[in-house]
Formats: sequence, C-alpha cells, structure tokens
Amino acid sequence: MQHAAQVLRPAVSGLAHLRHDRAAEMDSGPGELSIAEGRILSLSTSSDARIRIDAAGCAVVPGFVDCHTHLPFAGWREREFGARVAGVTYEEIARAGGGIRSSARSFAEASDEEILAQAQAAAAEMLAHGTTAFEGKTGYGLSVAAERRALKLARALGGRVAQSTVSTALLAHAVPDGYDADAWIDAIDAALPDLLTAGPPDTLDIYVESVAFGNDHLRRMGALARRHGLALRAHVEQFSTNRSVPVAVELGARSVDHLACMAEEDIPLLASSDTAAVLLPGAEFLGDERVAPARALAAAGAICALASDFNPGTSPVLSIPTIIGLAVRRYGWTVLEALLACTLNAALGDRLLAGARLAGGRQAG
Ligand SMILES: [Zn+2]
Repeated sequence: MQHAAQVLRPAVSGLAHLRHDRAAEMDSGPGELSIAEGRILSLSTSSDARIRIDAAGCAVVPGFVDCHTHLPFAGWREREFGARVAGVTYEEIARAGGGIRSSARSFAEASDEEILAQAQAAAAEMLAHGTTAFEGKTGYGLSVAAERRALKLARALGGRVAQSTVSTALLAHAVPDGYDADAWIDAIDAALPDLLTAGPPDTLDIYVESVAFGNDHLRRMGALARRHGLALRAHVEQFSTNRSVPVAVELGARSVDHLACMAEEDIPLLASSDTAAVLLPGAEFLGDERVAPARALAAAGAICALASDFNPGTSPVLSIPTIIGLAVRRYGWTVLEALLACTLNAALGDRLLAGARLAGGRQAG
C-alpha cells in the first residue's frame, strides 16, 4: 500500500507567528499542495498544474528559516574546539585572544572573494539541508572600517546565493583592542550613520556576556536602534546569568538569543512579550553549555525560534534538521514545536517572511 505525503499546515493562515503553547494547533497529515514561482499557493491540488510530483512517503514542510547565523566569516577555529573538549572554557580562550578575535584576524587576512566563496559554499550546503532563507551577522570586523566591509560583504553575499537573506549589524561582539566597552559603544554611536549606508542592515545586535558587553551597553544599543529606526536583537545569557532578558524586553527587542543561563523568574515576562526567544541548541551541545529552559518557555507561550548559530568556532553546524533533532531530544519539544520554531516563528525573528519559499526559489530583486 502506498502512503500519502504528509503536509504540515499552519493553525490559521496569515499568522505572523504562533506562540509555542499553541503549537499543537498546527497539523500534519496526508494532503497535497500547489506551488508557483517557488511559493506555496494553496494547500490543495491545482487543476491547471503543469507538473505533478508524487511525494508519497515524504513530509512536505516549508523551507527552513535560519534566523541566527554569523555568515559571512573566514576560516574555522577547529583547534579551539579541541581545547574546549579538553576542558578549557570559552571565556579562557576568548581572554587569551582566541574566539571572536581569532576570527576577526582571519577575516582581516582573507580577500573579499575568499570570504564570499566560503560563505557561498556554506549557503549551498544549507540549501541542500532545506534552508531557504537565512540571517547573517557582521561582528568579525572589530573596527569601524572592518565592520563597514563586513556589511558590504553581507550585502554581496545576498546577491550571490539562492536563499533570501537579511543582515544584522552585530557591532558589539567583542571589545576591540585599544578600547574599553564604553569607548567602543561611543565609537559605534559616532560611526553608525556612515555604517548604515554600507549594508544597510535593519537590525542592530550586541553580545552581552562577561567577556563582552553589559546590560548598560545593551540599553545604549537599544537607544541607538530607536534613534536610527532599526530593530534590536541581543545575544544574552549564554554562559552566565546577567538578567539581560528584562532589559531587552523593556527595550522592545525583536529577539533575545541563546538563553542557556536565563533566570527562571524571567520566563513569564519573556513568554508574555512580543520578543522572540531564539534558541541555539547546536551551540549548547557543542559548547557543553547549560540547556536553555525551552520546555518551560514553550509551555508559558513564548514566541520560540530555533537557529543554527552557524559560526566558525562555537557552532560550526548549518543543518537545521540536526538542530531540530537536538531541540526535540534536549528540550523535550515535539516535532511540531521544533518545526514551528524554524519556519513561521524564525521568519518573524528576522522579518524573513519569505519563509514559505521552497528550495530553488531565487531571491526577488
Ligand atoms: Zn550568535
């Protein structure tokens, strides 16, 4: 006997997101759909379809949206992975000049063409794993001029890959040599009008951590975002509990990302806000980090998204199916919850509303 294709259907069409306590309202069952120009047209067959594909025995789901990657970057930090496995912490590596600084040196040494070629190859591999839209961040510049170059390269990458892309200016990733954290935020403040002509990104991002920036810098980044009409995202609570979630929610951040060490008492606040919780189980697994309270966030009704955190050091993983597997196993999520988090809700996280685009669709414009 032949099995029909299983089609994932949204709870209601036209939703911008679905809170995770409602994930079970999505439906996966036998069905069919019609597509035109790379987009899902309807969840039924079309009588004038030119091509019919029998997907019996397959699951038909929207293209995956990877809403948190660090593309484009140069090289890899595989030696650091060996050190971390042997017990050296990321903070120790970062303080010794490794981590982001090491990737910044590689970024500075590589030509534009080398960086774009590496990122294009990665994007092709991502497409083979079902990712049809992705976000990329700057942050390996560590100087105003190099961040400007990173924004330009991000824009160039968008024109070279099959996926829809958006770029985020992660201008506060690590504190550059010759600055303290306050002075670097001052420098960003002064340079931002010029930097925004290079990309231009629609979002600013900051890494709040013991080895990077603090909640006061998050507040300043929020003020800069508001002044320039940009959205705010933040890497928070990855290695330590800094209580950055209430600050980011108060600033109206579009997302808070990582959350492995978020305080339990902040879960209701985040779950009732419009700030998405972007969870990165690949980084948690490879870094032997704590596991984010994803089950509790989902039960409380947070807007949860999943992403790869694809980067050359702490999360060299680009496969969203792998991320789904980690989320299901380590978070105790249902497969529907994981699928919701890397399709509809991940699209919200970056306004990547082309999330329903199917593999092979080309970027419009
Ligand atoms: Zn990241």
